[in-house]
Amino acid sequence: MRLSRYFLPILKENPREAEIVSHRLMLRAGMIRQQGAGSFSWLPLGKRVLDKVCRIIREEQDRSGALEIMMPTIQSADLWRESGRYDAYGKEMLRIKDRHERDMLYGPTNEEMVTDIFRAYVKSYKDLPLNLYHIQWKFRDEVRPRFGVMRSREFLMKDAYSFDLDYEGAKEAYHRMFVAYLRTFTRMGLQAIPMRADTGPIGGDLSHEFIILAETGESQVYCHRDYLGFEVPGEDVDFGNAAEIAGIVGKWTTPYAATDEMHDEAAWSAIAGDDKVSARGIEVGHIFHFGEKYSKPMNASVTGPDGKEHFVSMGSYGIGPSRLIAAIIEASHDENGIVWPESISPFDVALINMKSGDTECDRVCNELEAALSAAGKDVLYDDTDQRPGAKFATADLIGLPWQLIVSPRGVAAGEVELKNRKTGERENLSIAAAIARLG
Ligand code: ATP
Ligand code: MG
Ligand code: MG
Ligand code: MG
Repeated sequence: MRLSRYFLPILKENPREAEIVSHRLMLRAGMIRQQGAGSFSWLPLGKRVLDKVCRIIREEQDRSGALEIMMPTIQSADLWRESGRYDAYGKEMLRIKDRHERDMLYGPTNEEMVTDIFRAYVKSYKDLPLNLYHIQWKFRDEVRPRFGVMRSREFLMKDAYSFDLDYEGAKEAYHRMFVAYLRTFTRMGLQAIPMRADTGPIGGDLSHEFIILAETGESQVYCHRDYLGFEVPGEDVDFGNAAEIAGIVGKWTTPYAATDEMHDEAAWSAIAGDDKVSARGIEVGHIFHFGEKYSKPMNASVTGPDGKEHFVSMGSYGIGPSRLIAAIIEASHDENGIVWPESISPFDVALINMKSGDTECDRVCNELEAALSAAGKDVLYDDTDQRPGAKFATADLIGLPWQLIVSPRGVAAGEVELKNRKTGERENLSIAAAIARLG
């Protein structure tokens, strides 16, 4: 991609409305534009990151056995009357009427709708387990939308829903999703800690919030230092092996980790002072077992091996891709801008032509762009006539992991300069070596 033909509306000044660094940097890097209270457009650079985040989420959901569907954003109130949530949900739900005066709503979540799909088709325990997910926009009329896409009103959510014959099956489904979440966040360069979360009237211990530690987090959280050194299961983890999956969950739920609402002073005080991590955290994911909460009122049942009807035992599993991007920036930036982890960077390489229009610089840049693209790399080629200082500032701001700098002096010596955005390390390489390194 040539920057001269791209749409990258960089802001030079810090936007006054942005209180936290991720919001500031997303606006400055031209990733998003605010359209109203808690409502954002995703501009080309932001959209690329959003797509990469969703791709990783998808791959890990699929690996764990979940199946992707897509449900509408606008739902009928009648479905929500069946579960009793139409009245119970309160002011966060955006209620709409269609031209026939029918009550509709913009989905804040999809338990009712997915239960409706399930009950229409699935009749036997032999068709279980089943886990259906989608990645779809949600609307919640938050009291205080703030911090950009961190807490917006319209936001993207991956929500998965598991259906099982009984509690044991539902617990295994919960475990699989737990492990899928560990892998998902790690692949994005994040250290997410599963913390015990409130189960409310459902009870039990199957509710965890996945929390990123960050000063700007909205929740107060407490955990054992051990979590910071835990290794996340690799790609070879066997989701078909319930004992292996349960073992991983066991390890990741043994040391103390709880959000404010679940905090237990007695258990906390038993931990040695140095091992206590009390910090602010960002909730990027939440998994929850709720049993028959929806299947019972909505009559979603299957015939069991005993020949009797059983209400299915369900769970739901959310991740906020839009919030995640803000959380990643909170965790990975410096005074010059964003520092993307490679896996979700909008492009792989910033190719910087320090003297666009110079025949030799242009020739070398074209050669590098072609060779790296052929090797499957996404290159953002700054071919504009901006001054080098401005080009470097832009490249640092948008935070691509590698900058490849082509200058008249370098080209005369047959060399280009490679800069690592994260470490700042610079190195002169021949053109062929640069291609080999990045390709
Ligand atoms: P919060 O406690 O921050 O209000 P929540 O507990 O209401 O979040 P869930 O219902 O558990 O959120 O939704 C699943 C995920 O969706 C959250 O873990 C978060 O990543 C994301 N999410 C929820 N609300 C928002 C929002 N207003 N803006 C962006 N992402 C959100
Ligand atoms: Mg909320
Ligand atoms: Mg919450
Ligand atoms: Mg939650």
